[in-house]
Amino acid sequence: MPPRIQAPKGTRDILPSETALWAAVEGTARSVFGRYGFREIRTPIFEDTELFTRGVGESSDIVGKEMYSFVDKGERHLTLRPENTASVVRAFVEHGMHRLPPPVKLFYIGPQFRFERPQKGRYRQFHQIGAELLGGKGAESDAEVLLMLVAFFRELGFRDLKVLVNTVGDGPSRAAYRETLLRFLEPHREELSEESVRRLATNPLRVLDSKSPQEQELLAAAPRLADSLSEKSRTHFAAVCSALEQFEVPYEIAPRLVRGLDYYTNTVFEIVSEGLGSQNAVCGGGAYEGLVEELGGPPTYGVGFAIGEDRLLEVLPADSPARRAGLSLSVGPVVVAAAEKLPVKEGGLSPIFALVERLRRLGIPAVEAAGKQEKVYERAVSMQAPAIVYAGERGLEDGTYNVRILATGERLQLDELELAKRLQPFFSFTGAFPEAAPARPSPASAVLGDED
Ligand code: AMP
Repeated sequence: MPPRIQAPKGTRDILPSETALWAAVEGTARSVFGRYGFREIRTPIFEDTELFTRGVGESSDIVGKEMYSFVDKGERHLTLRPENTASVVRAFVEHGMHRLPPPVKLFYIGPQFRFERPQKGRYRQFHQIGAELLGGKGAESDAEVLLMLVAFFRELGFRDLKVLVNTVGDGPSRAAYRETLLRFLEPHREELSEESVRRLATNPLRVLDSKSPQEQELLAAAPRLADSLSEKSRTHFAAVCSALEQFEVPYEIAPRLVRGLDYYTNTVFEIVSEGLGSQNAVCGGGAYEGLVEELGGPPTYGVGFAIGEDRLLEVLPADSPARRAGLSLSVGPVVVAAAEKLPVKEGGLSPIFALVERLRRLGIPAVEAAGKQEKVYERAVSMQAPAIVYAGERGLEDGTYNVRILATGERLQLDELELAKRLQPFFSFTGAFPEAAPARPSPASAVLGDED
């Protein structure tokens, strides 16, 4: 036997038992983001490599070490997208969206690719749900995006996530701080890791990102970015914080939070969950004032975020409404079985095959199951079927069937239209969740239980 082929390192299959929950979480994003006026955009999975070197920045880890880049058969230099903001901004410029009445609000959901060392919560193909608000009004746009994020997490049933915010200042503030920080760090060059020394040359602010306890100790005495802020940046940050307070968003100022991408200006933020260990950020984002121009558009204020969907699912609360919705989405098809041995029509299709197809045309998901009654029942339960339809020879002639509703145990005799009407509610999940998180239902009762 030839050796088996496995999914590439750092990638994984998301199986049918999980996809319904993914879809429910994505459904929540669509519904909350829609409430804030965001519309979906889907950009290519690969782009010209230059988009990321220019957009994300040469000094970032992403561009420096993590990109899946290749040359195609037409000698083009391409890269699997490691993040989605640069692509969204490229599309914004390419399609002249800067000429639309501002702001333009876009969201995306999809896979991203980074060559990182795989570990819990870190994959080489992972998924992000993100949004970008382009052409907005500074602090007010930052606040709107943060409020939308909080609404999303609340709707998913999260109660104790931490919102960390900081400001990295505008261009002039950062230039001033860069000098101050360099003056402080230069005499300590010897004590710094190779990585940090490299960052000294490329982007000294990123040294603050260091995870090494030794460097953190040294950095405790470093001058603070807050002291180099221009009046404008200070006012901007104060306005964002005050909006968060006004809408009762619990947040913490994290003075060391600088984020790994080069394009951020002023507000940066992260949402962290204790449940995730060292890879604890479920969401990162911030404002960017130069990116649209950098990619060939007019000066445009931008702010956005990316949520790591894989991590989000790992810490999704047990009583999240999305789980309930996920269960409704994963309701299996109605199982149709022969009530007795049916005569085989010579050369024709079995009468069950035809009945199943008629049900589908009435909008009812249905499959045929053969075998003994116990086997049919087991199959129906394992598929999370809401009902079993038994078709006997007489019933097939006069068009009525014995139906067992698994949720309630009811046994009914129905014709095809009655059947469709009775079963429809099991399949009409609308995507809207109740505001308050209901208690987590047990899987069996949620699927087979009441019909609402
Ligand atoms: P970033 O684009 O680096 O700001 O990341 C935004 C979010 O994406 C992070 O907070 C993570 O939740 C998620 N993320 C980033 N890299 C990975 C990865 N390699 N595997 C899984 N999730 C990731």
